[in-house]
Amino acid sequence: MKGIRNGKIILPDGIVEGKVLVFDQTVRGLYSEEEAKTLCDEIYDADGKYVSPGFVDVHIHAYFGKDISNGIEGDVRTISHAILRNGVTSYCPTTMTVSMAEIGQALDVCRALKGESRTWDGAEILGVHAEGPFINKAKKGAQNEAHILPPDASFVLKNQDILSLITIAPEVDGMEEFCKTVKAETDVVLSVGHTCANYDQTKAAIEWGVTHSTHTFNAMVGLLHRDPGTVGAVLSSDKVYCELIADTFHVHPGLYQMLYNLKKDRLVVITDCISAAGMPEGEYSSGGLQFTVKGIECRLPDGTIAGSVLRMNNAVKNILANTDIPLYEVINLLSRNPAASVGATSKGTLETGKDADILLLDGSYEVVSAFRMGEKKF
Ligand SMILES: [Zn+2]
Repeated sequence: MKGIRNGKIILPDGIVEGKVLVFDQTVRGLYSEEEAKTLCDEIYDADGKYVSPGFVDVHIHAYFGKDISNGIEGDVRTISHAILRNGVTSYCPTTMTVSMAEIGQALDVCRALKGESRTWDGAEILGVHAEGPFINKAKKGAQNEAHILPPDASFVLKNQDILSLITIAPEVDGMEEFCKTVKAETDVVLSVGHTCANYDQTKAAIEWGVTHSTHTFNAMVGLLHRDPGTVGAVLSSDKVYCELIADTFHVHPGLYQMLYNLKKDRLVVITDCISAAGMPEGEYSSGGLQFTVKGIECRLPDGTIAGSVLRMNNAVKNILANTDIPLYEVINLLSRNPAASVGATSKGTLETGKDADILLLDGSYEVVSAFRMGEKKF
């Protein structure tokens, strides 16, 4: 077994010092220095750094110019490897609303790599998040309208082995039957997004089985006091996990504290990275659409906001800088909560029995080292 000593160990309910985190492929627990010496073949010195659970990103399309939607094995490998450097140890590769043939190809590639990803030198594939194609053209955002389709539950049924999550618009014709079928016959999580659903329509969708909200506030109906919209419905339900792109641009950081106060263990930080992430400013394309990146902003030619270039660990800094949320709870928003939202019960915390996906973070929340399934990857 291995151990990490001399660190500030971030657990779901607080930070522990003076103990050794002991693990093999899974976390074996916290021990005294004396006990750890007898248990471990190898003990790493964290040198006072934070020992954090790996982050779980349930919504990310691309990185370093490579895109899940391309359906290319090498692209998935590059993305998985790159985001480990930002602290993401497991993730849901996310397809854009591209053609059904292209989505099928992307699913096949992720399906083929999922087993290998369990122990490879990158973030593990938990399952795919399909962002569309059963969404509303009126809230397409940066999704390609040409590929938006009416709901078809057979797509989910036949791909349920690799799908973790699907973003849908509840108000679209046929969606009640779609949601009820998916809920009854699969474990695929239904997420409301790219939608014009009002408060009542969203409440109904939650009754049909929706438990997740895709990039909350973005590409949905906002909250007004006499018309609470999609946002009002997902924020007021204790069943719904709410994604947040915490880059300070997609949602004003003045709302972070309120979102946390409302959602607590159901607030899920995501990056929603597109292909420009990790790249210099300039012109890029994603899902067949052109966009421009300047600073932290990605926009289509008409000014529509596209996905982000957020590094997951920078979300920690953004939330700490704009709220009074304690560090261990911020880490929960990036690890425990997203893992729970997609049923990845072996991920998300450093509690005994969980997979040993571990980060060492310095005082600026930069990722110094990452362990995947107990193996040090850098
Ligand atoms: Zn997205």
